Amino acid sequence: MMDYPFFHVSHYIDGQFVDGGSRFDILYPATNQVIGSAPEAGADEVDAAVAAASRAFRQWSRMPAAERRLILKRFAQLIRDHEAELAAIETWDVGRPITENRSGYIPRIAANIEFFADFAVTHGSESYPMDNGYINYVLRQPVGVAALIAPWNIPLLQATWKMGPALAFGNTVVLKPAELTPIGTWRLAQLAHAAGVPAGVINVIHGFGPNSAGALLTRHPDVKLISFTGETTTGKIIMATAAPTLKRVSFELGGKGANIIFADADLDRAVAISLRSSFFNQGEFCLAGPRLLVQRPIYEAFLTRFQRATSQLQVGDPFDPQTRVGALISREHYERVTGFIDLARADGAHILTGGTDPVLPEPFAQGNFLQPTIITDVKPHDQVCQDEIFGPVVTVVPFDDEEEAIAIANGVSYGLSAVVQTRDVGRAVRMGSALEAGTIWINDFFVRDLRVPFGGMKQSGIGREGGHYSLEFYTEAKTICLSNQ
Ligand code: NAD
Repeated sequence: MMDYPFFHVSHYIDGQFVDGGSRFDILYPATNQVIGSAPEAGADEVDAAVAAASRAFRQWSRMPAAERRLILKRFAQLIRDHEAELAAIETWDVGRPITENRSGYIPRIAANIEFFADFAVTHGSESYPMDNGYINYVLRQPVGVAALIAPWNIPLLQATWKMGPALAFGNTVVLKPAELTPIGTWRLAQLAHAAGVPAGVINVIHGFGPNSAGALLTRHPDVKLISFTGETTTGKIIMATAAPTLKRVSFELGGKGANIIFADADLDRAVAISLRSSFFNQGEFCLAGPRLLVQRPIYEAFLTRFQRATSQLQVGDPFDPQTRVGALISREHYERVTGFIDLARADGAHILTGGTDPVLPEPFAQGNFLQPTIITDVKPHDQVCQDEIFGPVVTVVPFDDEEEAIAIANGVSYGLSAVVQTRDVGRAVRMGSALEAGTIWINDFFVRDLRVPFGGMKQSGIGREGGHYSLEFYTEAKTICLSNQ
C-alpha cells in the first residue's frame, strides 16, 4: 500500500495562514486519491489579500533593492535547503516523474528568485546629460500590486518566475496558483514567511478562475498589473476583464511548437532531443515540440528509432526513478487528450505507437495515464496538428526543403517555441530568422539564460519577461529633466 500524505493547504494573507471559504479536494493525478484540500477564496479573501499587498507596497517599494535582495536570497536559500521536499510536492501536485524534478528543476526555481534579486540591484535608473547642460534621468519605480496567475503544469517554476522579478523590482504580489495544483505554492509561502519576507509582500490565495478568485483578482481596482500564464482563451477573457481599469498585462499562453529535423542532423541526438521535447512533463508543456517535421531522406530511419525509443519509455508511478512519463493532470484533461487521438483515428491517421492506456497495478490503474503516442499520416492543417493537445501525443509529418518546413511550422495560430535540428550553421541562422516563435532552440531543448526575453508571438502571448524585459514590465519609467539654471 502507498502512504499518502494529506496537505491541508491554506491561503497566505498579510503574513498569516488563513482558511476562510469553502474547501475543495486536491487529487493525486497518478491515482486520483484525495491528498489534501484547499480553501476557495471569495471576495473577502481577495479584498484582504489585495489590501495587505497595497499596505505592504509602501515600505517594500521604498526599500533599497540591495535590502530586498538580502531577504529574497534567504528565501531562495530555503528553497534550495528544501529541494527534496519540494521535488516530491511538485510530483504530488502534478504527477510528473520525480526524476524530472531532480534534474535541475528545483535549483532553477531558486535561481528565478536569486537572479532577479541580483539584477534589480545592478539595473534600473539611467541618466542622459544633454549638450546644453540639462540632465535627463529616468527613474524606474515599482508599479504596485501585481496579480500573478499561474497554470497547473509547472506550478513551482511559474510561481517563482513571476514572483522573482515582481518582488525584486519592488512590487508586492497576490499569487493565485491553479486550482489543480495548490500545494507547492502554499509551501513556497511558508518558506517565504520563514525567510522573513515582510507581511503582505507575498499573498497566496486559492480558488478557481471564472466567477471565482481569478476573475475577482483580475478586475480588482487596486491591482495594477497582471502576469498570467495559461490558455489562450483565458488570456482573452482576462484582457477584457482588465480593460476597464487599464491594467498592464503580460501573457504567456498556449503553444504548438514544431520540432524540425533536417536530414543532416545527428540522428541519435535528434531522437534524444525529440523524446524530451515531446514527452517532458508527459507533454503537458507549453514549450513542447509536439509537431515533428522530418526531412524526407531520413523520415523512415528517424521514425523507426523514435518509435522504438518512445515505446520503451516507462509509464507509471511518478515516484519510481525509472519512470519517464507520469500521469495527466486530471480525468477531464485525460478525456480531452484522448479525444484528439480518437479524432485522428476517425480521420484516417495512423497511430504508430501508444494511443492506449498502459497496464498498471493498483493504485495506478486508477490514475490518468496514457502511453506516449506518435501519430503519422496526418496533414499539417488537420486539427491534431493545429490545436494544442497538451499531452504525450505528437504528430510526424515529412517535408522536402527549408521553405516547406518554414511554411508548415509557421502555419499555426501559436508562436511560442520551435526546435531546429541540423548541422548546417547557415541553415540554422536562416531558420532562426524565418520561424515565427518567441524562442527557437537549435540542436537542443529547454535551455535558457534568464537575461533573454521569454514569451510568445501570435496567439501565444503578449509581452516578454526575463532580464531587462521583466524590468520594463514590472516598473514604471519616469523621466525627470533637471535644469542647469
Ligand atoms: P487556464 O487558462 O485554464 O488556467 C490558468 C490559470 O488561470 C489558473 O490559475 C486558473 O484558475 C486561472 N483562470 C482561469 N480562468 C480565469 C479567469 N476567467 N479569470 C482569471 N483567472 C482565470 O490554463 P491551465 O489549463 O491551468 O494551463 C494550461 C495552459 O497554460 C496551456 O494552454 C499551456 O500552453 C499554458 N502555459 C503556457 C506557458 C507559457 O509560458 N507560454 C507556460 C505554462 C503553461
